[in-house]
Amino acid sequence: MYRRTRRGRKTRYRPSRFDNRGNSTKEGRLAPSLRSKLESHFREKRFVESLLPVTEWKVELASFDIHKITNPEVSGKGYQEGDLKGFYNVKAYVLDRDGYTCQHCRGKSKDYRLHCHHIVFRSNQGTDAPENLITLCETCHKALHNGEFKLSWKKSKTKHATEIGILKSQIRKSGWNFAETFGYETKYRREQILKLIKTHYFDAVAICCRDDQKVDAEDSVFIKRNVSKGDYQQRTGKRSEKKIPTGKLFNLRKFDLIKTSKGIGFVKGKRSSGFFAISDLFGNKISDSVNVKKICERLRARTTTLIQQSRTGKFTHHPLS
Ligand SMILES: [Zn+2]
Repeated sequence: MYRRTRRGRKTRYRPSRFDNRGNSTKEGRLAPSLRSKLESHFREKRFVESLLPVTEWKVELASFDIHKITNPEVSGKGYQEGDLKGFYNVKAYVLDRDGYTCQHCRGKSKDYRLHCHHIVFRSNQGTDAPENLITLCETCHKALHNGEFKLSWKKSKTKHATEIGILKSQIRKSGWNFAETFGYETKYRREQILKLIKTHYFDAVAICCRDDQKVDAEDSVFIKRNVSKGDYQQRTGKRSEKKIPTGKLFNLRKFDLIKTSKGIGFVKGKRSSGFFAISDLFGNKISDSVNVKKICERLRARTTTLIQQSRTGKFTHHPLS
């Protein structure tokens, strides 16, 4: 998504980097998109380890276990009728197969609550096998059961193996040992055992915590936001005519974390008058006009990763710096 946006955006000139570098034919080379993904995994690992004493890693890399669907014997007792956890797996698989799109309206209803519909009803001895399941949005699902239309659909094409397989083997090669878990297991545990709502941090709790561990979620959550290294002048297009202020003013840059008389926040807007606007990590204003000429302490210089503790807005120093 980021790449696509960047390609369409008018920014400074970037020389062509495709197929004209010796590097691109080197053995063992990873495509830039893949390398970036791989490195970001390690970056997150380093970040978590800088905060917590990690003894054991458990990583969720895929949403479903294809192995258990195609070869039910692997799991030991196999996937049985009425096995709720197994059904979570099949559901995750069916959603992925159908591209997370309602197979009747193809997303036209704008209803993004997706269900798995049994083509042969369970009451008519329909099974929970993937061939008997289809993705429908809640609107269409209800309408179908009310007999408002007859279901007809095109079979989804089987997808090719994704990058995640290559990624996984590369991560393992690096010597990072982790236990693997799947999205459906996380969801099953979060909904059925821990009874927690869907958030990123409750998913993390469902992956890693013991059943009896109490988690004070709001306070244990760190929020990160990545910003560019600097402010760049646009070279072409309409916006290039507008000169954007870069560099320092009163020794402060944009996104510096400062402590002022009106609170702690990131520099959002600089003014030559010395009255700056400061905001939290989300860009919500803390103060529109604060005098940085008087009482002002720079807590942290701009980094590409801004960090804020929980939504309540406590700021912490970057643990890595
Ligand atoms: Zn629909």
